Amino acid sequence: MIVAFDADDTLWHNEDKFQETHREFEALLAPWAEAAAVEEQLTSVQRTNLPRYGFGAKSFMLSMMETALDISDHEAPPETLREIIRLGQAILDRPTQLLEGVPEVLASLSNFTLMMITKGDLYAQLSSIEKSGLADHFWRIDVVAHKDAATYAEVLERHDVPIERFVMVGNSVKSDVLPVLELGGRSVHVPYHVTWTLETAEDDHGQEFPTLERLADLPELLESWS
Ligand SMILES: [Mg+2]
Repeated sequence: MIVAFDADDTLWHNEDKFQETHREFEALLAPWAEAAAVEEQLTSVQRTNLPRYGFGAKSFMLSMMETALDISDHEAPPETLREIIRLGQAILDRPTQLLEGVPEVLASLSNFTLMMITKGDLYAQLSSIEKSGLADHFWRIDVVAHKDAATYAEVLERHDVPIERFVMVGNSVKSDVLPVLELGGRSVHVPYHVTWTLETAEDDHGQEFPTLERLADLPELLESWS
């Protein structure tokens, strides 16, 4: 069995820092608008920019800048824009903080072939992977721009992995679970305590898949499948 892991919010913390930055950004724009209005505009700007910039902190910085100009009707001073740059850089500079028990779980899965499939900004992701110290656990590591069925199919074909033997493990129903089920593979959902608005799966997807409370429960589940 080939077991692939998502990285952000599956192996290491990510969204918590973004959420914290949202709160700081709202406070920064408080002279011009209520927090809810700032959040609504930021989400709208990010949705529009996603196809342009892709995922990650650099894209987030650009969307915060644009939102600040929108919300303040171009009155936001250079100091505000400087502070937005600082907020984005603080996300990029944060050390990779592993989720609890991750190295132990990966070490206990040495009977399986492990992959990492993570999406986002290539440079930032490679940097996080290096800082994580986890790279040696994985047979293959792929950084992709999107996580849809076509992308998974391409990655599996490139590494000659049959879908029947493939299991994807991740925190996102939309990106890690549903596309792999669509291809006929298996997925395991391990939720993180917060999910980004644009990463939330909409509607009842009518699919069944195992959800684990902790990654530490994964080895037992995989043993039962093999
Ligand atoms: Mg994730």
